[in-house]
Amino acid sequence: MGDASRAIMRQARKQVSEWTPAQANDALAQQHEAGSDNQDIVLVDVREKYEWNEGHIPGAVHVPRGFLELQIEEAVPDKSKTVLLYCAGGVRSLMAGKTLQDMGYENAISMSGGFGQWKAAGLPFVQPRVLTDVQSKRYSRHLLVPEVGEAGQFKLLDSRVLFIGAGGLGSPAAYYLAAAGVGTLGIIDADVVEESNLQRQIIHNMSRIGQYKAESAKQTIQELNPDIKVITYIERLDETNVARIIADYDVIIDGTDNFPTRYLLNDAALLANKPVVHGSVFRFEGQVTVFKPYEGPCYRCLYPEPPPAALAPSCAEAGVLGVLPGVIGQLQAVETLKLLLGIGDPLVGRLMMYDALAGEFNELRLFRDPNCPACGEHGHPENLPTYADVCAVPARS
Ligand SMILES: [Zn+2]
Repeated sequence: MGDASRAIMRQARKQVSEWTPAQANDALAQQHEAGSDNQDIVLVDVREKYEWNEGHIPGAVHVPRGFLELQIEEAVPDKSKTVLLYCAGGVRSLMAGKTLQDMGYENAISMSGGFGQWKAAGLPFVQPRVLTDVQSKRYSRHLLVPEVGEAGQFKLLDSRVLFIGAGGLGSPAAYYLAAAGVGTLGIIDADVVEESNLQRQIIHNMSRIGQYKAESAKQTIQELNPDIKVITYIERLDETNVARIIADYDVIIDGTDNFPTRYLLNDAALLANKPVVHGSVFRFEGQVTVFKPYEGPCYRCLYPEPPPAALAPSCAEAGVLGVLPGVIGQLQAVETLKLLLGIGDPLVGRLMMYDALAGEFNELRLFRDPNCPACGEHGHPENLPTYADVCAVPARS
């Protein structure tokens, strides 16, 4: 430290009061006991982000010294509060105290010895969770979006999404959610990859023909993002396994193409209170909605019964434009991210319909049926018929 620096420090010491770590700890403990209405002291850590990341005092607010003048009034709007500042060794916090006084803060205090002495005294500190360097790079475009940010990325990494089917809808949805960093993806599918799948089921490829779709999807996802845990279920969803499998997930993406599974899933999701992001496609048309138990309608509110089998063309006859499940599956992925992050307006009680030939999106309001056998006033989602297997066509509204 040069002479000029020492002079500045001497001056700052005259102006700014100092507390030892023990004094600071006592004051914070007293405040803790006083309850949330009686919080006079605001603890501010003025170190750099990398120092904060290595550990900080519980309850501290992080305002790096370099941003102090710009951010402190947002962090501590009430200038009559006691602002207890700390850094690593007690020098930067002393200077910061002087700055706060100049800005009109009535009681700025610096903790002498800083975080180093606090730690050495065996006082409590927390180590915040941080993204690894690889994660920071991979998810940088999420970190730049305030509605996602680091906290949102952690939410996604901690989230669990189940895909019913690794087919036309599940392929793009799973691929994008893996890229977005949804930490655990469950995939249930008992089928194997066939050549006729590759026209739309982009998570598979030629070399996977004959492999289980769930395993093929897992391989593609792990090549894209090794951060993601993929759990595969080589089985069909039925009454005996549905409750067990969906119990572990936050959101379920319905990519099924058969009615019995939709009814089965609907009832089990209501019982377990899990949101289902529903999608379906038919030739040039697709639709997507979110079934959020007891907040919006359920599948049975809309379609208490499947259409008669005679009116439903077989899957092979119906056909679908190859890209269409991509559009709908990606909309399902978007809705899922919104639910996981708690942002935006999910498609609860709204059916978004896409007509590829017309190039039009339309929306239909959907309402809960008070007489719904599953979620209605007198309904109960248990032991309801799940109907015989008929091939899928989107139910028309
Ligand atoms: Zn219902």
